[in-house]
Order: sequence, then C-alpha cells, then structure tokens
Amino acid sequence: MPATPAWPPKSLPRLFVRTPLGQGTSVDLDAGQANYLGNVMRLGVGSELLVFDGASGEWLARIAEAGKKRMTLAVERLTREAEAIPDVWLAFAPVKRTQTDWLVEKATELGAARLVPVMTRRTVAERVKLERLEAIAIEAAEQCRRTVLPEIAEPQPLARWLEQRDAARTLYFADEGGGERAADAFKPGPACILTGPEGGFTDEERAAVRGHPNAVPISLGPRILRAETAALAALTAYMALAGDWR
Ligand code: SAM
Repeated sequence: MPATPAWPPKSLPRLFVRTPLGQGTSVDLDAGQANYLGNVMRLGVGSELLVFDGASGEWLARIAEAGKKRMTLAVERLTREAEAIPDVWLAFAPVKRTQTDWLVEKATELGAARLVPVMTRRTVAERVKLERLEAIAIEAAEQCRRTVLPEIAEPQPLARWLEQRDAARTLYFADEGGGERAADAFKPGPACILTGPEGGFTDEERAAVRGHPNAVPISLGPRILRAETAALAALTAYMALAGDWR
C-alpha cells in the first residue's frame, strides 16, 4: 500500500514563470498555475513558494493576491544563483511518443543543455510536438531544482543537422556497430551526443556521421540498448565523466 503523503509537504512548491525575475517583481500566474497552487497545493495569500525564470536563478516569492482563476506573486529574494551545467547537447532520433516524453523528462533531470530531435531514415515517430516537449522539460526542471531549462531545438533531418554542426563541439556518436569505450573517449569541452532510432542508423548514415570532423564513435557496452535507454545512458556517462556529480 502506498505511504500516505505527508501534508503539508516539507519542500516549497517550485514554479517556472515567463516573467523575468528580480527583487520586488510582481508576477501574474496563468490559470493553470493559479489552479495548481490554490486548489491542488491549497495555498493562499501569504504562502511562500520558489520561482525561476530560466535565467536569473531561483527566488523566494509570496502569494500577494489570489482569485478563482488568477494569482499574483511578489518576489522577495534570491535563494540560489543559476547553476552551471556542462555544455552538452543530446541529439536523438525521436521514438514513440511515450518513450520520447520519458527521454525528454530524464534528459532534463540529468542536465542536458539542449535537446535536438534528429530525423533519420529509420525514425518512425510521427510528428514531434515541440510545445509538448517544452512542457515536459519545464515540469521536470520544476521537480529536479534546475534553474535553467534545456533548449529544445526544431526537429531536423540528420543530413542537414550534420551540415550545420559546429565543428568545435565533440560529437559522441553512439554507434551500435562499435566504437571507443565511452570512458576512454571523453575529453573536456562542448559536446553533443547522437543516438539513433529503434531500427538503428543505416550504413550510409553511419559513414556520414563517422566522416564528420570531431566525430567520436562510442560504444555503450556489449548489449544493444533501446533507443531511449541508449540516449540516457550516454548522457549519464557523460555527466559522470564531466564532473557534474562532484
Ligand atoms: N536496430 C539496431 C541493431 O539491431 O543493431 C539497434 C538500434 S538501438 C535499439 C538504437 C540506438 O541506440 C542506436 O542507433 C545507437 O545510437 C544506440 N545504441 C544502442 N545500443 C548501443 C551500444 N551498445 N553502443 C552504442 N550505441 C548503442
């Protein structure tokens, strides 16, 4: 039987807001956020919460006005500077919706700076809805105490994405056909991890990626991982090696 949740919860609720924050800023919440605080969290005028805007760190705020569908916060003080995260992007071939949602949520928790859906020959995902992925990333950031959201790039075909790539960013290519051990391949500096779809990359795609300046094919071990597992395993290994877990 699940444990009865403690009420009221010990930690303050945390919300992402689109208003740039500073001491004394007044923030009008949207109806969804007002409903969450008022009806789900049962907070009213005078209650404290934490807010972040994706750029200026985390702030303590207090509910100044509360109506049925609206709420205004008064921002009081900075509680945490924006955290530094490794400059690592995750480029992934989208999979089915549930797994892609999961991948975006977990990659946000793990600290990816940018998420890039890359369409490959064998990508079977229908349409990638950016707004949905952004909403998932926001919710994950609220929960995991991130203060800076990952950027979510427009989906693009692999060939075009490769053409436009910044050659100074190491491209760790998770190649199911084999590559260096991830721990041996790691080097400091801006990085991008690329993982493929359930059906894998075609031989032409593998050759094109491997031929790219700064591409480092890596192996993620002796087993073939599902696409979303591979993306998160590679990101996890990168974060550990880059010192994010210090
Ligand atoms: N259908 C492919 C096959 O049978 O070889 C497997 C594709 S795998 C499900 C999806 C993606 O995860 C791959 O394209 C690759 O990027 C990554 N991946 C999975 N296992 C891997 C491993 N052991 N090493 C490197 N990459 C791996």
